[in-house]
Amino acid sequence: MRDLCRLACLSLLTTVAAAQAAKITEKSVRETVGWLAADERKGRGSGTPELAAAGDWLADRFAKAGLKQLSDGSWFHEFSLPGLLIDSGAVTLKLTSRVGDKSSELELVAGRDVRQWRPSDGLKGDESCTVATMDDPVLQRLLTARSARRPIIIEVPETHAYWQQAKGLHTVLEERRKASRPVLLVRKGLLPPRPKHREIEWSANWSVAAAERADVPQRNVMALLPAREDSDLKKEYVVVSAHYDHIGVGRAKNGDSINNGADDDATGTTAVVLLAEAMAKMPAPRRNILFICFAGEERGLLGSKAFCEQPPLPLDQIVAVLNVEMIGRPEKGNAGKAWVTGSGYSDFASICDRAFQKTGGGLVEFRMANQLFMASDNFSFVRKGIVAHSLSAGSLHPDYHQPSDEVEKLDIPHMTQIIRRLLDVTRELTERDEAPAWNKQGEEILKRVQGQRKKR
Ligand SMILES: [Zn+2]
Repeated sequence: MRDLCRLACLSLLTTVAAAQAAKITEKSVRETVGWLAADERKGRGSGTPELAAAGDWLADRFAKAGLKQLSDGSWFHEFSLPGLLIDSGAVTLKLTSRVGDKSSELELVAGRDVRQWRPSDGLKGDESCTVATMDDPVLQRLLTARSARRPIIIEVPETHAYWQQAKGLHTVLEERRKASRPVLLVRKGLLPPRPKHREIEWSANWSVAAAERADVPQRNVMALLPAREDSDLKKEYVVVSAHYDHIGVGRAKNGDSINNGADDDATGTTAVVLLAEAMAKMPAPRRNILFICFAGEERGLLGSKAFCEQPPLPLDQIVAVLNVEMIGRPEKGNAGKAWVTGSGYSDFASICDRAFQKTGGGLVEFRMANQLFMASDNFSFVRKGIVAHSLSAGSLHPDYHQPSDEVEKLDIPHMTQIIRRLLDVTRELTERDEAPAWNKQGEEILKRVQGQRKKR
């Protein structure tokens, strides 16, 4: 009798699920991913006001959909990254340009003409320097070099995000590189024009104030869909996640400097939001679902690491993590299909595959799926022994981490179909008796990962 009841319940749930899935439309997908990847978000860089605004916007979507806060009073799991406080109002800069035996001097006014963009070890100098424009091909190489020998002066338009972010007293994230010389921004239009066919030799007499240590606050956004009251598994959680940060503004390519991160990972974030909204309208699940949008992924999985190091709930209650990464640009012939990282390590991929098959889809193999198992937020959970995989429905395209990763290049019908199918996957994870489990190969990987951790 109980089984019969269960069957009836399940079939009712399937009908409701199909009806809710149908409400995930191309229009809602396009609007959500379009907002996240718009130029106004400036590429959702870590520590930027635009990423903070995106966090508020996500929390608002969850609230409106009727989801619950995990901890009372907040939609956020907060953590911080080490940063430095620097003061653009305290910079002095006198630039000398020499062409042949002619030289001219230019004194720049702190804050108005010159701003400090990156900290330095020394506080003053009188030495030759490099002057570059934002679209200079050598600039990126200089900025990412392990150490710089000369100060770098970048000429930027007033409208550029770098110029605006460097205003007054401001915090910057501490870079892993050994920054040794300052990086200063000079407002475009002040430097003398470059003569044709002749090199300018530049030197800088500069000083900056000492940088102070300061934490840069970061927020993961979380929303809870509680399990039904009488559920036998209401202590267990399924996490559905994606990262909402990207790499922000960078070197211009074809006049565009905003890395929109449409596919990476505005598409995954869109899936998390639309799934939360759809599932909030369905009968409560057997296991709790925690929807998480992570920050700091592009800085080294830092949001998910922070979550797992200071978890807002006991980690042993999380039985599976479905992390969604880049589902907007399928390889040719693979529309509507997906692949799972580390698919051979647990029964998670076969659960996804069966759910996809319900609507005529399925999983495909991807040549780099095992390497990528360690390259996204799922891996922070793997380190804690939790069955966690990333699901992707795309390719590693040439627009990856480029300003050209734009909404216009997404395959919206494909993405819509994938998100609808992810609703079936999530439901399968919350309703089935058995939680997903590592297999022998997975146990081996786990041993290696956790062994490495102990050695460190
Ligand atoms: Zn990503």
